[in-house]
Amino acid sequence: MSNIIEKTVLDIHHWTDTLFTLRLNRDPGFRFDNGQFAMIGLMVDGRPLMRAYSMVSANYEEHLEFLSIKVPNGPLTSRLAAVKPGDTILVNKKTTGTLVLDNLRPGKRVYLLATGTGLAPFLSIIKDPELYERFDQVVLVHSVRHIADLAYRDFITEELPKNEFFGDEARHKLLYYPTVTREPFRNQGRITDLVANGKLFADLGLPALNRAEDRVMICGNPHMMTELIEQLEAQGFDQGSHAGVGDYVIEKAFAEK
Ligand SMILES: Cc1cc2nc3c(=O)[nH]c(=O)nc-3n(C[C@H](O)[C@H](O)[C@H](O)COP(=O)(O)OP(=O)(O)OC[C@H]3O[C@@H](n4cnc5c(N)ncnc54)[C@H](O)[C@@H]3O)c2cc1C
Repeated sequence: MSNIIEKTVLDIHHWTDTLFTLRLNRDPGFRFDNGQFAMIGLMVDGRPLMRAYSMVSANYEEHLEFLSIKVPNGPLTSRLAAVKPGDTILVNKKTTGTLVLDNLRPGKRVYLLATGTGLAPFLSIIKDPELYERFDQVVLVHSVRHIADLAYRDFITEELPKNEFFGDEARHKLLYYPTVTREPFRNQGRITDLVANGKLFADLGLPALNRAEDRVMICGNPHMMTELIEQLEAQGFDQGSHAGVGDYVIEKAFAEK
């Protein structure tokens, strides 16, 4: 239990029946790199029930924020979705994760490719001024089933460009490409298809993905990740980790059981 600390729920926002954001208080002792994850949870039957969660908040923010799925009958999320302001959440202070800027080689452009709650670590990363110092262009792609699942859309398009410190950079460098797979929307289709058929690049007026200029960060559905890794490696991209920088990095937002 020694690394597990108790935090208080400040706010819970339900985007849909199956998607919510939790905001907790934070103490200065909780440190992380943008893009990392921590184990969070609840006491259940006298024992901590913990799951991995990427931080949505940036490492300089005063609160801690998480974006969560609600899995029907999910051991943790069916309970987590019911918490109220003032309730206690357990957070393990030990943070980790490979989806960090330091694991990428320098490049011209970085693609942040997310499905579902895989958006979470990229919300932390797009609030990192370092991102805009390292890259000329940042392309954030978020693929979801339904339009209502496009959490943080207003934050990305309205609030971020007004940030007093890096809003100008974000406005010029950040391209946001939300895509929906199960209902009509201006962008439709799975990330893997949009990359493979080149529609993503054509729609954004960008050159086809190429190792000389592009870096890629991927988070979300394991099947999407496997397919994208195959596509990237076929073009010579190599994977970065703490052992050494690479052209792309991944984090599985949820593990198949
Ligand atoms: C490194 C890492 C980071 C993660 N970050 C997040 C995060 O930021 N937000 C988040 O909601 N989850 C995240 N997860 C998944 C999370 O740890 C839990 O699996 C999830 O909260 C469900 O917990 P549960 O106990 O209710 O159900 P579990 O028993 O853990 O999961 C039941 C099943 O639900 C499906 N599932 C689990 N999580 C998701 C998901 N996020 N999206 C779609 N299907 C899912 C899987 O098929 C899984 O087998 C992350 C997982 C890992 C490994």
